[in-house]
Amino acid sequence: MRLKDLTSEELFLAGSTACQGCPSSLALRIAFKALGKNTILIVVASCTSVVQGAYPLSAINLPVMNVAFATGGASASGVVAGLNALGKRGETGEKPTVLVWAGDGGTYDIGIQSLSGAAERETDFIYVCYNNEMYSNTGTQRSGATPLGAWTTTTPGGKTQHRKDISQIMIAHRIPYVATVSLAYPLDFYQKMLKAMSLKGTRYIEILAPCPPGWKFPSGQMIEVSRMAVQSGMWLLYEHEEGKTRFTAATSRILDGKVKRKPVRDYLETQGRFKQAIASPEGSKAIDRLEEEVSESIRRLQGWVPEYI
Ligand code: SF4
Repeated sequence: MRLKDLTSEELFLAGSTACQGCPSSLALRIAFKALGKNTILIVVASCTSVVQGAYPLSAINLPVMNVAFATGGASASGVVAGLNALGKRGETGEKPTVLVWAGDGGTYDIGIQSLSGAAERETDFIYVCYNNEMYSNTGTQRSGATPLGAWTTTTPGGKTQHRKDISQIMIAHRIPYVATVSLAYPLDFYQKMLKAMSLKGTRYIEILAPCPPGWKFPSGQMIEVSRMAVQSGMWLLYEHEEGKTRFTAATSRILDGKVKRKPVRDYLETQGRFKQAIASPEGSKAIDRLEEEVSESIRRLQGWVPEYI
């Protein structure tokens, strides 16, 4: 399959209020091409709430609910219960896909209880976290997804803690499907959305979403920064299904020894938010710790891959 084989139908419309080079907008465009029109979108408070726009000027050509930060999983549970009730009365045709779209703030921090509860109840929906590693819509504060050493307005000297690994937390819920994706590998993303759509139960997909103003790089470099994240191992591409993990795209080529992994420092140098970490002696220690974090994440994931066990 090639990119030009994807449908030309656009459910994410031109003229939105997103910044130039916004990763969430491109991700929505690709996700909608996979899911199609029979989708109900639930937007958790985030930049996407603004990008979605004020009725009747929405950029999203689908039924949309805007919900509070903490309620992505709970809102999806309500919508799915409503659809099931209508289905029992024969009042729906083909059941729509329920898609929650949330940032890392609404997933890693404020919304984790709601997501965890919905997953434990085996709610039938797809949850996508577009992870820009900070609270971009409220002015670039740190989140649980912000990496060690990164500048934000609330970590002016660089964050001193490691980020969480929420995809692993979702795997621990024993849900049918967990996958990570990157905008630099759009076909891998598209195919994982199709896979998620073909399954039932809670399915979780996480996109690394490099945010040009928040991460401090020129908007035209969003795809290149996304690619560097994968090539350095700071973002690993995989899918987890039926108790097994499979590495995909560039991550699989790196771990199969076909391509050499790039140093984490090369990735950090693409972004102004790590300027201080790169320049200072303490920052250099943070870079070493990030290299260790990447190696440790790879080892942990390899424990789930049949050929490494
Ligand atoms: S701040 Fe970042 S995530 Fe938010 S709209 Fe702008 S580019 Fe997109």
